[in-house]
Amino acid sequence: MSSDYPCPCGRLGRSGRPLAFADCCGRYLDDFDNTPAPDAESLMRSRYSAFVLGRESYLRATWHASHRPDDVAPDEGTKWLGLEVRRHAVIDAEHAEVEFVARYRVAGRAVRIHERSRFVRENGRWYYVDGDLL
Ligand SMILES: [Zn+2]
Repeated sequence: MSSDYPCPCGRLGRSGRPLAFADCCGRYLDDFDNTPAPDAESLMRSRYSAFVLGRESYLRATWHASHRPDDVAPDEGTKWLGLEVRRHAVIDAEHAEVEFVARYRVAGRAVRIHERSRFVRENGRWYYVDGDLL
């Protein structure tokens, strides 16, 4: 599949147009070993894209082991509708929070998640720890 389609996370480039997957989360999803997401917001966006694209191994790899569930597979009936990042707060070099709203539809029902997520950086990589629903 070509990777010049718009990134599922919806990030806009300088032109104000959505970035291509290859220029956005694709760099991290397709080359996890060599190209870690550089900040918590990029990691959060790439994890959203991984949910959309069903990249289970990426979700597992970016979930901090202390909070990672045994089963990270997204529900196959879920249709993701969009992501809106509200706030990216850098607390210190190793901790950050990202507040976002994600929407999806499952079994005909529209669901909206508003969460403040915690991220930690270890050995140069950011990981999702957990979050509070708002
Ligand atoms: Zn993206």
